[in-house]
Amino acid sequence: MDFELIIVGGGPAGLCAGIYAVRRGIKTLIIEKGVVGGQILLAPEIGNYPGFPSVSGTDLAKSMEDHAKGVGVEFELGEVLRIEVGGGIKKVTTSNRTYECNALIISTGAIHRPLNVAGEKDFLGKGVSYCATCDGPLFKGKKVAVIGGGNHACEDAAYLADIAEKVFLIHRRDSFRAEECRLEHAKNKGVEFITDTVVEEFEGDVLLEKIRLKNVKSGGESELSVNGVFVSIGVVPLYALAEQIGVSVDERGYILVDENQITNVGGVYACGDVTGGVLQVATAIGEGCVAALSVYEYIRKPYWRKVD
Ligand SMILES: Cc1cc2nc3c(=O)[nH]c(=O)nc-3n(C[C@H](O)[C@H](O)[C@H](O)COP(=O)(O)OP(=O)(O)OC[C@H]3O[C@@H](n4cnc5c(N)ncnc54)[C@H](O)[C@@H]3O)c2cc1C
Repeated sequence: MDFELIIVGGGPAGLCAGIYAVRRGIKTLIIEKGVVGGQILLAPEIGNYPGFPSVSGTDLAKSMEDHAKGVGVEFELGEVLRIEVGGGIKKVTTSNRTYECNALIISTGAIHRPLNVAGEKDFLGKGVSYCATCDGPLFKGKKVAVIGGGNHACEDAAYLADIAEKVFLIHRRDSFRAEECRLEHAKNKGVEFITDTVVEEFEGDVLLEKIRLKNVKSGGESELSVNGVFVSIGVVPLYALAEQIGVSVDERGYILVDENQITNVGGVYACGDVTGGVLQVATAIGEGCVAALSVYEYIRKPYWRKVD
C-alpha cells in the first residue's frame, strides 16, 4: 500500500483533512490538479474566516499549505483521472502514476456555473469571464457588468469598482442572497444595481461590445454597452470521479454524505463544496476535520463503529 489515505483535491477541505489525518499518524497524500489552495485563490479578500478579519485568499491558502506540509502531509501535483475500489483497496490513477491506499477522501470542490446563453462561449476570454480576480485588471477604465445576486457577485462587483470606470450588477430578482454588508459595500463603491433582469445574449464583433437584457417583470428588452461581463451565479460540484465508483450524489451532483462525511461506498469519504451546503471556507474546514477523524476510525479503530 502506498498511502493509508489519499485526498483528492487540495482546497481548504482537503488541506484540513490532511492536517488532521497526519496528526493522527495516518500516512497521507493530497493530490491536486491545479494550484494548492482551491477556490480561495480567486478571493481578493476573505473577511469571514475566524481569526483573520481580512486576509487575501492567496495568503490564507499559502498558510494552509505550509501548515499541511509542516506536519508531514505529502503532495502530488497532478490530476486524478480514475479511481477503482475493490477488496478494501482503492486505486487512484493520476496523470503521473497509480497509487494504492486504504481510504479515500474526495474534496474536489466546485467550479463556476455558466449562464448558458447565446454568445457566452464565443466571447469567453474576449469579454466574458468567470473570475474577477484573474481577469479584472484587463478592464482598467472600462465598463463591466457582474451577473449574480450572491456574496461572490457582490464581492466581484466591489473589487471591480476599484479598476473599471463603471460597474453594473445585474440580478434576475429584486432581492439578494448576498449578506447585507456585502451589498452595502458594493453600493458604497458606486456599483449600479440592475434588478429583475436577465442577460439574453452577448454581442460584439471580435470582442464583447454589448449585452441584450430582458426585464423579467415587464418583459421589456434593452441593450447595455459593456466591455466585460463577469458571470458569478454560483458553482457546480466536481463529482465525476465519485460517480465512477458508485458514490451517490443528489440531483444537482453534490456527493451525499452522513454526519461523519461517510459516503455509501466503504472507505470513501467526501467533504467541502463537493458535498453542497453553504459553500464556505469555514464549512469546508469543519467537514475536512470530520472526514479525517472518520478515516482514522475506519483505519485504526474499526471496532468503534461495530454494533453487536
Ligand atoms: C471568488 C471567490 C470568493 C470566495 N470568497 C469566500 C469568502 O469570502 N469566504 C468564504 O468562506 N468562502 C469564499 N469562497 C468559497 C470558498 O473558496 C470555498 O467554499 C472553498 O474553497 C471550498 O473548499 P473545497 O476544498 O471544498 O473546494 P475547492 O476550494 O474548490 O478545492 C478543490 C480542489 O480540488 C482540486 N481538484 C478537483 N478535481 C481534481 C482532480 N480530478 N484531481 C486533482 N485535484 C482536483 C481543484 O483543483 C481544487 O484545488 C469564495 C470562492 C470564490 C470562487
